[in-house]
Amino acid sequence: VGRMKRLMHPGLQRRTAVVVGAGPVGCLAALALAKQGWHVQLYDARPDPRLPSSKSAASLRSINLAISSRGIAALQAIDPAATTRFLETVIPMKGRMIHHLRGSQESQLYDTHGQCINSIDRGLLNEGLIDEVQAAHNVRVFFLHKLTTADFDRRVLSLRKSHPSGDEDVDVTFDLCIGADGSYSNVRRQLMRFIRMDYQQVYIPHEYIELKMPPARDSNGNILFPLDPNHLHIWPRSSFMLIALPNKDKSFTCTLFAPNAEFARLEDPTSALIWFKNQFPDAVPLIGERALLDDFKRNPRSPLIAIKANPYHYKDRVVILGDAAHSMVPFFGQGLNCGFEDVRVLDALMRCEHVDPLALAHGSGDSTDPNLARALQRYSESRHEDLVAICDLAMDNYVEMRHSVATPWYLFRRTLDQL
Ligand code: FAD
Repeated sequence: VGRMKRLMHPGLQRRTAVVVGAGPVGCLAALALAKQGWHVQLYDARPDPRLPSSKSAASLRSINLAISSRGIAALQAIDPAATTRFLETVIPMKGRMIHHLRGSQESQLYDTHGQCINSIDRGLLNEGLIDEVQAAHNVRVFFLHKLTTADFDRRVLSLRKSHPSGDEDVDVTFDLCIGADGSYSNVRRQLMRFIRMDYQQVYIPHEYIELKMPPARDSNGNILFPLDPNHLHIWPRSSFMLIALPNKDKSFTCTLFAPNAEFARLEDPTSALIWFKNQFPDAVPLIGERALLDDFKRNPRSPLIAIKANPYHYKDRVVILGDAAHSMVPFFGQGLNCGFEDVRVLDALMRCEHVDPLALAHGSGDSTDPNLARALQRYSESRHEDLVAICDLAMDNYVEMRHSVATPWYLFRRTLDQL
């Protein structure tokens, strides 16, 4: 249809959408726009994560996350074939497994009809999406390009291109800019210079660190999961908690969430080991004392930030999606799922408003596409309430996961619910 339209109207040209951030949300947004018929350029400050030289840095970051029906529905709406491939790699988690202090385990199913959340390899998902994007004929991907400034009135982005022989500044022009550059988004910062954005940023007093639980072996040397793979494991200890999600290689990735004051008490290895043995007696032998102390010393302790913004767009020029628009604490497992949903909602609104990826060359930055401006306006207006609600639910769920799930009142209420 696009080719026919161009033949009938030779003055029409494919418009350019620039996506900043090749994380999972930016990649899905690039795919959605490519499928609509835009010419897409995707920029990321990092090197290509698929290169072997990028792998060691990536191995220090969280390696898995939970993808739910919210995220799967969005992936399916944009790229059904890739979704089928991704779903072949997930491990379904049908409930929580609570590990009590005395070592007993208790399964709490998420749903009486068997609905699950799914553990997925974060790298595999991101790299798979980059492969999909690069396979599209109308997308170009640029790594080592960091956004420095943006002029949304002139429709110009300035990027710093890293090069072994020195950095170079490049300007790119665009018709539409998507900011998917994560919690510390520069697109969001630039957007604030153009609109009256309400903005709130909160660091909670807790940090997290990741620890690896290797696969187990039976007496015949067979490799086994050290814990039931179809649960999200939680060791709730009131003011802090340990969680573990399964990986395809039969290992688990454990994450310890604790107030920084608690971490401060664990500076020397001996106190750290005693504390782990007291708090998580069944987890320590599965992780291994040496590996635990090594990971605890070596792995970064990262902060947890929550961000709310409103509105998310400016005219027909720019919109922020994913963590750039709504960073949430990870206790509801919905940050990425929501980012994917952002793309599905924006894609539907652009189609609903009949936004045309082909247009007469705009010539100057002054012209505005009323359909696109309306789609972005509707996006900001319709999305905000839901995003605030899920950010608040994520914050509330921390108390639920680290404390309430192990209280007698919670267990009594669940028993009543199941009657
Ligand atoms: P990011 O993944 O942060 O990607 C942003 C990209 O932008 C990066 O590639 C970066 O290099 C690039 N970038 C940044 N600045 C610039 C710049 N100036 N110029 C160019 N490029 C730039 N979510 C879930 O749904 N389920 C879970 O189970 C889950 N678990 C989590 C566990 C933890 C411990 C944490 C911290 C988060 C978890 N999340 C989870 C949240 C999830 O990780 C994020 O919501 C998701 O990664 C956001 O994706 P994104 O593409 O918006 O941003």
